[in-house]
Amino acid sequence: MLVELAVGDAYGAGFEYADPDFVASNNTLNRYVQHPKHSGIRPGQYTDDTQMTLAVAELLVSNEPWTEGSVADKFVEVFRRDPREGYAGGFYNVLSHVRSGSELQDRITPHSDKSGAAMRAGAIGLCSDVDQVIRYADIQARVTHATPLGIESAQAAALAVHYCRYNIGPVSNIGAWIDAEIQEYGGLGGWARVWNGPVGSRGWMSVLAALTALSAASSLSDLLTRCVNYTGDVDTVATIALAAASCTTELVADLPHALLRDLENGPYGHDYLTELDKVLFRVIQ
Ligand SMILES: [Mg+2]
Repeated sequence: MLVELAVGDAYGAGFEYADPDFVASNNTLNRYVQHPKHSGIRPGQYTDDTQMTLAVAELLVSNEPWTEGSVADKFVEVFRRDPREGYAGGFYNVLSHVRSGSELQDRITPHSDKSGAAMRAGAIGLCSDVDQVIRYADIQARVTHATPLGIESAQAAALAVHYCRYNIGPVSNIGAWIDAEIQEYGGLGGWARVWNGPVGSRGWMSVLAALTALSAASSLSDLLTRCVNYTGDVDTVATIALAAASCTTELVADLPHALLRDLENGPYGHDYLTELDKVLFRVIQ
C-alpha cells in the first residue's frame, strides 16, 4: 500500500494545480514529470502526503498510545529526519522551527478543512475494527484539522482502505458503504456523489474525487490516469485513491515499471516503504 500511494503522490506531484494543457499532454504514465513551477520537488520524489502517511503508519505499528500528542510527535519526527517541500507554506514554516509535537500543537490553530488529515489517513483503514478506524482517523485529524469536514474526510479516506482491504463489496459501491458507516457515527455522508472537474484544496474534494475515480477504474494505471486528469490537487487525490486501490484484487495491479523503478529510494524511499508495508500488513488487523 505505501509503495503504491507514494507512486500516486510522486506522479501526481508533477501535475499539482498545473495547467490543463500540460496535464493533457504529459499524463501518460511513462515517467515522472518535473512540475512546471515547483522546482523543489524532483521527478520521482514524494511529498507531504506520503511523509505524513509514514508518520501515521509508523505510529500504528509502534506500541505508543494513539493520542493527538503522539501523532503530533510523529509528524515532527518524520519531517525533521527528512525535511522536504510539498507542505502548505505556513505549516512547513512551523514544522521547520519546532522540535516536538507539543511545540507544534502550541504553534498551530488546528482549524483547517483542507486535505491534510485525509491524505495521511489511509493506513488506519487496515485496522479490522470499523470503530477503531473511525476513532483513530478522528484523533489524528484533530491535530491539524479539527473541523467537522476535515475529520470526516479523513474518516472517509481511511474507510475506503478498510472497504478494499476487507473485501466488503464491489469497489463501485464504496461511496455508499462509507456513507452508511459515517452516518452511523453521526457524520454527514455524501460520499457516493460523483466528482467532476478540477479538485480544490478542501479535504472532502480530494476524497470525493478519489472515490469517484476508484468506482470507475479497472486497474491501478487507469486509476492514476483518472486522478491526474481531474487537474487541481491531484497528488492528494492519487495518494488517497491508490492507498485504497492497492488493497483490492478487483483492480488490476499494473502500475508501470518505470514509475515503480524511479520512485525515490533514499533512506525513506522505495525500500523503506516496502519494508514498512510488510510490517503494517503483518501487525495491523
Ligand atoms: Mg502533496
